[in-house]
Amino acid sequence: MTVRQPGHVRRTGIFFLYLIGERLNDFPVELEGILEKPDVHFYEAFYEVPPVPEDLLLKVHTPEMIERVRQTAYYETALYSSGGIVLAADRIWAGEIDNAFVFTGTGDHHAGRDFFGGGCHFNGAALAIANLRERYGARRFAILDTDAHHGDGTRDIFAFDEDVLHICLCSQSLDHGSNVDVDIPCLISDDEYLARLETEFGPRVAEFKPDMVFWEFGYDGTAGDYGSRGLTPDCHPAIARLVRSSAEEVCAGRAVAILCGGSRRDIARYCIPKVIAQLME
Ligand SMILES: [Zn+2]
Ligand SMILES: [Zn+2]
Repeated sequence: MTVRQPGHVRRTGIFFLYLIGERLNDFPVELEGILEKPDVHFYEAFYEVPPVPEDLLLKVHTPEMIERVRQTAYYETALYSSGGIVLAADRIWAGEIDNAFVFTGTGDHHAGRDFFGGGCHFNGAALAIANLRERYGARRFAILDTDAHHGDGTRDIFAFDEDVLHICLCSQSLDHGSNVDVDIPCLISDDEYLARLETEFGPRVAEFKPDMVFWEFGYDGTAGDYGSRGLTPDCHPAIARLVRSSAEEVCAGRAVAILCGGSRRDIARYCIPKVIAQLME
């Protein structure tokens, strides 16, 4: 258990991108009341040029795959989405902030070493991990995936990497070394979902002792969205709370929340500020 210094206030980074599509049209306006807080660091779109250097992209993806993404309309969005994740993790490691929420225009978890799809182009979490390993010698990471769908891209990249614990709540069941899939029924209550998460995530992360926790936060499993499992929008801040407290116990609170699937504007508007508030607690 990490004991925080008296007077230490958690600093949360919010990484914002303007190439994010209709579902996030209400942001950053909806962050009013949060952005003014002294311990919130707001990082806007054009962070660095280039947002992800070519040699870093090549540590995760094949040259052919990068070229195929380059030919899509989402190349720039993908580059800046994953660039935000790389920068968030880097700034946390450097001690500038404690944890972060990253707004993305394209997702992470369906982007593998040599394939992409389902709204995901580059795997930002994998790029952030490659950067932390290369730059700072960090080694062990946990990735929690609460998007409604299986994180096939992330699994493809880390399946044989014993220093990355990948816990994915989806529609299949697997418990093999550092690869874990937790089968979630088509309809589940928040309480049941959170109970499963608590059992499957907390103890494993505590035992694994990662240097940082990444959370693929998809809200598509909310009732009425395209991956519905019947969850209420309040389930996501409760997950955030769990992620934050686990990270506090095992890695001094170092955690990056990455926006993944979900399409409804009203759900985004309701739960994203609450998720961020939980990270700031
Ligand atoms: Zn999804
Ligand atoms: Zn899965």
